[in-house]
Amino acid sequence: MLTPFIGGNWKMNTDRASAARLARDVAAALPEGNVADVAVFPPFPYLIPVSEVVASPEGSARMMLGAQDCYHEASGAFTGEVSVGMLRDVGVGAVLVGHSERRHVIGEDDALVNLKARAVLDAGLVCVLCVGETLEQRHAGQADEINAAQVRAGLRGVTGPQTRRLVVAYEPVWAIGTGASATPQDAGAAHASIRSVLGGLFGPGPASGIRVIYGGSVSAANARDMLGQPDVDGALVGGASLRAKEFAGIVAVAGEIGRARAAAGPGATARPACTQESPLPKKA
Ligand code: PEP
Repeated sequence: MLTPFIGGNWKMNTDRASAARLARDVAAALPEGNVADVAVFPPFPYLIPVSEVVASPEGSARMMLGAQDCYHEASGAFTGEVSVGMLRDVGVGAVLVGHSERRHVIGEDDALVNLKARAVLDAGLVCVLCVGETLEQRHAGQADEINAAQVRAGLRGVTGPQTRRLVVAYEPVWAIGTGASATPQDAGAAHASIRSVLGGLFGPGPASGIRVIYGGSVSAANARDMLGQPDVDGALVGGASLRAKEFAGIVAVAGEIGRARAAAGPGATARPACTQESPLPKKA
């Protein structure tokens, strides 16, 4: 039974005061006896104020400080970049790598994503490697192939023991920030396919211990369906993570499902009924 992982990607939102307030509100809203691993990913300038909340007694309910990106070099003439060591220095425990906005807006390629993933894992931090297909790739029937290629390239050179700190986030590009999440069944199928690629890379044992989480318009309304899929071990939440109560509600759902799976025993999964229609735009 894997501990669910719920990340809140704040993207380029908040300011100094509202970032600290959001972190405090999330900490206060997390369920009593929370069993999920929770990470918040504020913008770089607000890591320190948020780290103060995370380190305080109110933030200690399995809340981790995350960074949205990093650079793989340790130090030197890399203007504008932030190293993994610097992130660790301010209390960061987890780093997003290869988020679709970095791949598709900023132009990061698999080789750079791989360097970053290895730097994060070498530094002993949790690496959340994001992968996902575009709508065109999905319509062309290439989704599994694209995800497999991004997983293989992103994890080149990563060792078996390092996978204990690896989380893979399946985030279909067309579902991020659009309100159109994948159907739970599509997400479940993509996760199973990604896990089999992980099995090929690291062996079935280590692969079964890697959390594969879903991202793409996760909200309070669809969290139960998404997180109830057998191969979905958590969520990376963008927009909804800016609303503390909604985010904490998603954490609570993850905890309930995690507890139900643990109670059902090894190999069993809790599968609440899926109620969603496919949100995918129709092919032209
Ligand atoms: C994300 O930023 O990783 C994300 C999934 O965003 P949203 O939930 O807003 O789609």
